Amino acid sequence: MIKALFERVLTRKSGVRREASGAKLGIRPEHMSKNAVYVCDRLQRAGFEAYIVGGAVRDALLGVEPKDFDVATNASPEDVKHEFRRAFIIGRRFRLVHVMFGDETIEVSTFRSNTVKAVEGGKAGGEVESDATGRITSDNVYGTQAEDAARRDFTINALYYDPTHDIVVDYLDGLKDVEKRTLRVIGKAETRYREDPVRMLRAIRLAVKLGCTIAPTTAKPINEHAALIKNVPPARLFDEVQKLLLSGHANATLAALRKHGLAEGLLPLLDLIYQQPGGQKFIELALDNTDRRVRENKPVSPAFLFASLLWHEVVKRWAEIEAAGENRIPALMQAMEEVIDGQRETITLPQRFAGVTREIWMMQPRFEQRTSKAALRMVEQARFRAAYDFLLLRAAAGEIEQELADWWTNFIESDPNIRQELINQRQRAQARHASPGAGATDGPGRRRRSRGGRGRTSREGGDGNSGESHDTSASG
Ligand code: ATP
Ligand code: MG
Repeated sequence: MIKALFERVLTRKSGVRREASGAKLGIRPEHMSKNAVYVCDRLQRAGFEAYIVGGAVRDALLGVEPKDFDVATNASPEDVKHEFRRAFIIGRRFRLVHVMFGDETIEVSTFRSNTVKAVEGGKAGGEVESDATGRITSDNVYGTQAEDAARRDFTINALYYDPTHDIVVDYLDGLKDVEKRTLRVIGKAETRYREDPVRMLRAIRLAVKLGCTIAPTTAKPINEHAALIKNVPPARLFDEVQKLLLSGHANATLAALRKHGLAEGLLPLLDLIYQQPGGQKFIELALDNTDRRVRENKPVSPAFLFASLLWHEVVKRWAEIEAAGENRIPALMQAMEEVIDGQRETITLPQRFAGVTREIWMMQPRFEQRTSKAALRMVEQARFRAAYDFLLLRAAAGEIEQELADWWTNFIESDPNIRQELINQRQRAQARHASPGAGATDGPGRRRRSRGGRGRTSREGGDGNSGESHDTSASG
């Protein structure tokens, strides 16, 4: 690892401190979490500086409701911990403090710098290290507030709000960019993307979420540096991808990523999916559905979402393996494992999601068996709801016949006593239309494919994430 003695860091301007009145800018302590306000107040009473910083200040200034709250302070993590009853120091690379209040956590970080400082008589409080591509792998140097501002990603993310004294602190003309609704990288974009390629994804995600334009100097280098995403550890990438997929603007964000050349190499499967007939429609329906749920504040399931994103790749492999002579269900299992393994190198789907994702896929062929007791048992399964929603999505995308989805809708909406009768009816109908091509062939060994468009759904698009039974967001 190379010590980063980059001139870029040394020459990055920290900017001049400017203060503005929060009230005049339209933000008030009531817009913030009262716990975040309390944390600032408490630290200030103990003699430290403390500000709400980053996304929450930016969102409030732009009229978006802030969701998570970060506090920046000149107190050390130990000092912060000392002030609160339920506070935990976390992180090895940069240590920060989680202050817990019921189900809200306020993240408190000490002002940091990624400037390499020559400190008289020895080392600085830490080191900034980077790898051969310029990616910062370690930066735990404490710094001043001005330095803390300069190491952040975008000017609008580097604003500090002191709720006690109603002051907004701006070092890098972030307020001007708020006014213009412009997303602008702090410093030289190329360098900042090399330091941390995730910033390219953040630029696009935040611009879409906030309805901001990306400054040309911030946008232009993205295409050229897209490949750097490959250096990002998969777990971090997964977090970021999950954030963007669950932002409530997934479809628009993915479109913007593709426009900037970021979809490739990031979600390689996404490109494959888009190239497959039917695949794009399927993903768009899944994402629309997720976007709608997020905006309606309903729970969404990452496992369901990843089942959707990877499904067409599974279908393709499944068909290939089956064509090579494998039986239907083992072929599906093999296809699933190959696809999950294949994305492990780029985006690690955590095991807790992968399990549910597999269950959703595995239940799909079983929906075709409507003539046996299996149908009755299936409804009882924990993942039934998720798998059924997935089935609706496939029908809406024209991948299976709408009639199959409607049958299941009717089945589960029926009284449990009537369900057996529906199965009997199905058996009788099948006996009557036993001739091939009559379209009523159930059971294993047959895959029913519809060429036609989508029919009418009782729940258009499939309610991909509905139901308590698969609210895996809670388990994540
Ligand atoms: P979101 O709305 O997704 O929460 P956010 O900007 O608040 O957006 P967080 O991950 O919560 O994102 O980060 C909080 C703050 O930390 C940011 O506003 C920014 O100041 C800083 N930050 C986050 N990620 C980076 C990064 N990759 N490089 C530099 N600064 C970052
Ligand atoms: Mg945030």
